[in-house]
Amino acid sequence: ATPTAVMVATGKGASQGVLIKGGDALEKAHKVKTVVFDKTGTLTIGKPAVVSAVLFSSYSMEEFCDLATAAEVNSEHPIAKAVMEHTKRLRRKFGASTDHNAKVKDFEVHPGAGVSGRVGEKVVLVGNRKLMQASNVPIGCEVQDYISENEQMARSCVLVAIDGKIAGAFAVTDPVKPEAGRVISFLHSMGISSIMVTGDNWATAMAISKQVGIQKVFAETDPIGKADRIKDLQTRGTIVAMVGDGINDSPALVAADVGMAIGAGTDVAIEAADIVLIKSNLEDVITAIHLSRKTMSRIR
Ligand code: ADP
Ligand code: MG
Repeated sequence: ATPTAVMVATGKGASQGVLIKGGDALEKAHKVKTVVFDKTGTLTIGKPAVVSAVLFSSYSMEEFCDLATAAEVNSEHPIAKAVMEHTKRLRRKFGASTDHNAKVKDFEVHPGAGVSGRVGEKVVLVGNRKLMQASNVPIGCEVQDYISENEQMARSCVLVAIDGKIAGAFAVTDPVKPEAGRVISFLHSMGISSIMVTGDNWATAMAISKQVGIQKVFAETDPIGKADRIKDLQTRGTIVAMVGDGINDSPALVAADVGMAIGAGTDVAIEAADIVLIKSNLEDVITAIHLSRKTMSRIR
């Protein structure tokens, strides 16, 4: 496209909340055959909420919540925020006057898995099954049943291990964006297929994919794995767009022919992307492709 055409389209995009960073992305977007979507924060609202908490140990609910909160307090993950909000709500309900301020030491983030740290004398792990397996924390039948039950309802379980044993868990839901299903089926009608790639577990991933109408899913995928899925598609000659919001999506956003970041996403994702969907509305994936199609058809 001519510099003028690019400028016009870029201006038009900006006025609609679609920030196009360069002519290159604009010129490629009309050729996109597959859109790869991240799940959390992209297809879903990204604001998970705790819907239940359960104990698998003799800790009191209060102590359990305090330890989980201390471990999660430094995490930026939306699941951490949900846990914090839930424990805050509980403390208020039980009339605790001040916020608990147990300090975490040796805090560590395990991307796509959870967090860990030491709270007082206790080693606390908060995260998914993968995190527990990596730390040799056994998962008993009772815990496994709780996980399966919740996962069938598209709820993920946040497991909490204290000193190497599962002490309890939170069930978390993250509803899909209202426009998600509509966007997937519209893309389909444009001859564009949709794929979901997520770090989350298979059961939750499948439940969400069913809700939005995506047939092809890759779950339990780490950030490099997400980028590898994009490269696989490209090897087969497919022009690929990636839509994501997280730090964990940035390698995939860079690898994709067109990287689209959710406006409400992390700075790292926004920086890695070619296009930013300011309104965080998935309809704008289509807006961006339409803009490109118009721009590119004008010069032919
Ligand atoms: P997605 O690819 O769906 O955006 P992430 O890669 O961010 O997901 O995280 C994958 C999974 O890792 C989460 O679904 C959760 O089970 C676990 N996880 C990551 N960070 C945390 C945390 N701070 N607390 C609890 N669980 C976490
Ligand atoms: Mg995400």
